[in-house]
Amino acid sequence: MPEMLASYVAGTWYTAPDDGVVAVDAATGDPVARVSSSGLDTRALVDHARRVGGPALRRLTFHERAAALKALATHLDSRKSEYYDLSASTGATRRDSAVDIDGGIATTFVFSGTGRRELPEGRVLGDGDTVQMGKEGTFVGRHVYTALPGAALQINAFNFPVWGMLEKLAPAVLAGMPSIVKPASQTAFLTAAVVHDIIDSGLLPEGAVQLVCGGLGDLLDHFGGQDLIAFTGSASTAALLRSHSAVTGRATRFNAETDSLNCSILGPDSGSSTDEFGLFVKEVAREMTVKAGQKCTAIRRAFVPQPMVDDFLSALRARLDKVVVGNPRNDAVTMGPVVSLRQRDEVRGAVQSLRRAADIVSGDPDQVEPVDADARRGAFIAPILLRCNDADRPEPHEVEAFGPVSTVMAYDTVDDVITLAARGRGSLVGSIVSRDADFIRDVVLATAPHHGRLLVLDRDCAAESTGHGTPMPQMVHGGPGRAGGGEELGGVRAVKHYMQRTALQGSPATLAAVVGDA
Ligand code: NAP
Repeated sequence: MPEMLASYVAGTWYTAPDDGVVAVDAATGDPVARVSSSGLDTRALVDHARRVGGPALRRLTFHERAAALKALATHLDSRKSEYYDLSASTGATRRDSAVDIDGGIATTFVFSGTGRRELPEGRVLGDGDTVQMGKEGTFVGRHVYTALPGAALQINAFNFPVWGMLEKLAPAVLAGMPSIVKPASQTAFLTAAVVHDIIDSGLLPEGAVQLVCGGLGDLLDHFGGQDLIAFTGSASTAALLRSHSAVTGRATRFNAETDSLNCSILGPDSGSSTDEFGLFVKEVAREMTVKAGQKCTAIRRAFVPQPMVDDFLSALRARLDKVVVGNPRNDAVTMGPVVSLRQRDEVRGAVQSLRRAADIVSGDPDQVEPVDADARRGAFIAPILLRCNDADRPEPHEVEAFGPVSTVMAYDTVDDVITLAARGRGSLVGSIVSRDADFIRDVVLATAPHHGRLLVLDRDCAAESTGHGTPMPQMVHGGPGRAGGGEELGGVRAVKHYMQRTALQGSPATLAAVVGDA
């Protein structure tokens, strides 16, 4: 039997006594680790965060916390070859692992820089200007942010075991709030390895990070109004957590990043001879294949002007034909498996649903010959491109195939494409590939309320563009409606999520003494 992953609770490593569930290698089907949290002392976990981790973090100034993050990112960077080995077991190619591992480390560095440059050398964060509220100026007010004295439970999805953990941990550390990291069981072995290194490094105060491998048990029963849940995963789990009495009855803060049917729009000016056409083809192909399409930001819906659909499909098919599916440890492989056989079955089921409204124009969901791997043991699936000739059908706007799957739909007018984009009912990200300023303006103004992020891609920014699918730590990540209605990242904004904003009122001298620069 593979080794049981330990949880880190109240300063000690805890190993559950039962058999747990087995996480297997996505490509080979070999067991990698066992996961269970049975018998875990959740009360001790929450108490330790509140009584030990939080106070220790908040004794540090913002700049000291930022320095700790920098040292931590440097340390993890020196250890990353070990993470790459484990990452292959999640099905990730080297390119995929770089997005997760290097992306997570880079995010930690960015938050360190945010702390040094944008937060004061103190423990309280003033927000906005001091407002004079009396005629004589003896009575003023200013908003201030202070860290919540509770615990931050960070629940992550299986697809980004490193980035997903660090993009939540870094702003919490900066804010001064202790984190309880709960990775998805399927890929917890990678998150656990990184958390082990974080704890062993001693670079963060004891209690600033704890780890739960396995279920949460009754942990949320101990949560109240100073605690916070930052969730990434499916809409159904988000709905379950949102209805927990901690959230509904005791006002535990709850932030959700859930699934979304992101779209990319090719502008009518971007015919097949333009640079933008090539950029669009590349972007859709990349979003279908990076992490085998298991990205919350992947392009699920591609909207193309009616006259350009055939050209687009043949260009995209030509790219997809070059994708080499197989064991991610083989350098010739460009797309690994999805995370598990169960996930592959879910993707196949979703493709079946999409086929009620669309035809497959590339790939066979039931047939693939993986390089250097056994198709019966690994969770392999070919990239699947669908064409939907009736964009009014609900399926392409409602069914998320969380794998290498995208549906192409034609549109006629700018109003058409605006309506179609909104039918995703809220997305993390949308993109517009065009140089037509009028078209771009109309689409941006109408679709921005449905999106947490919009990328307008053209030849001028392409070389430096971070792409449709990459959330950046400096910019907001999250989205309305189906995307969960939450918000993460976004520089200092992300830090403020772990703090309370208070309207502080008094004399100018008092405010200056508390906030510093009031
Ligand atoms: P999931 O089944 O909802 O699981 C997400 C996390 O929630 C896991 O850590 C899981 O732990 C935990 N969980 C499950 N049931 C729970 C419960 N009753 N109480 C507390 N925690 C619970 O989602 P997934 O299959 O891992 O992830 C895929 C989905 O996430 C996709 O739909 C994708 O679109 C979405 N996603 C969104 C984003 C984003 O940023 N918006 C990013 C990545 C993925 P266990 O694994 O131990 O069950």
